[in-house]
Amino acid sequence: MEREAAQAELRARLIEAGHLYPQPYQGLWAFGGDFEAVLAGVERQVHLMEPLQGVRQMTFPPFLGEREFVATGYMNSFPQLIGSVDVFTGDNREHRKMVAAKDAGEDWTTYLTPAHLDLVSAPCHATYPMHAGTTLEEPVKYEVSSRCFRHEPSDDPMRLVSFRMREKVCFGTPEAAVEHRELGMRVGPELLRSMGLTIEVEPANDPFFGRAAQIFAQGQLDAGLKYEFVCKVYGDENSGTALGSSNYHNDHFGLDFDVHVPGGGLAHSSCIGFGLERVTVALFATHGMDVSTWPADVRAVLGLSSDEQSA
Ligand code: AMP
Ligand code: ZN
Repeated sequence: MEREAAQAELRARLIEAGHLYPQPYQGLWAFGGDFEAVLAGVERQVHLMEPLQGVRQMTFPPFLGEREFVATGYMNSFPQLIGSVDVFTGDNREHRKMVAAKDAGEDWTTYLTPAHLDLVSAPCHATYPMHAGTTLEEPVKYEVSSRCFRHEPSDDPMRLVSFRMREKVCFGTPEAAVEHRELGMRVGPELLRSMGLTIEVEPANDPFFGRAAQIFAQGQLDAGLKYEFVCKVYGDENSGTALGSSNYHNDHFGLDFDVHVPGGGLAHSSCIGFGLERVTVALFATHGMDVSTWPADVRAVLGLSSDEQSA
């Protein structure tokens, strides 16, 4: 089946089963009770992932202050994915004008001003600024999560504008960061396979923007910086979709946030990230729309008790 037809079929089945509810904006979805129960099971498994359980946990808001956001370099590399918040700071007169513009069917958003808040695209980006200007005596490890925004509206139920991500992050010496990434390449796919998913590990590149894109992407591939945990949800005839990734950022964030290690070198970082909705959709695509019929071992891993099921 063609990829688009396979996407449409999966989307229709998820909607029909009450797992996804389309919202009036492409790429935005609401999720049903069983979907959330499965997603919670996935999130818990990421939390318990050996040997990275017990590291410091943080749940971040879905925004980064503009200064930190700009420092991550995300705007330079992926402008097509970014989003920011606008707010109203005017007086009564301005308010009346804004309402009149709205009532006249004109663009009322020109009355808003930037809040200097940007939407988070990956929770690890909120981790590095916490260490800005410091020397890390020991490598630090975190488990971080947040709601993420990426402006890539699509009808593919695997590609959302707003989704949740949980990551394990390491920030420290080059050796520690590389070791963490290697660990991610091993335990990340194992974790997904324990849920009955068929996973391949593939070298990958990020969707860099513009004329330099090819060069950056090739550099990332050549240096082996990014590996994705890929599942062929749309059949063997179509390319797979990444459910997670293990990424080595070299000294990128150390340089951006002026973070060093003993001896004066820049701190290096790596992260192992899972898109929680993506893993959940892949589970429904693999095991079927009715969670009560899923294999017992998969249900056990996800903590789905035998008599739960809410609509
Ligand atoms: P990345 O930082 O691009 O490697 O993304 C990490 C993980 O987030 C991916 O492996 C996906 O599971 C998930 N993800 C990325 N983009 C999206 C999206 N648009 N919709 C849903 N999940 C996504
Ligand atoms: Zn990350």
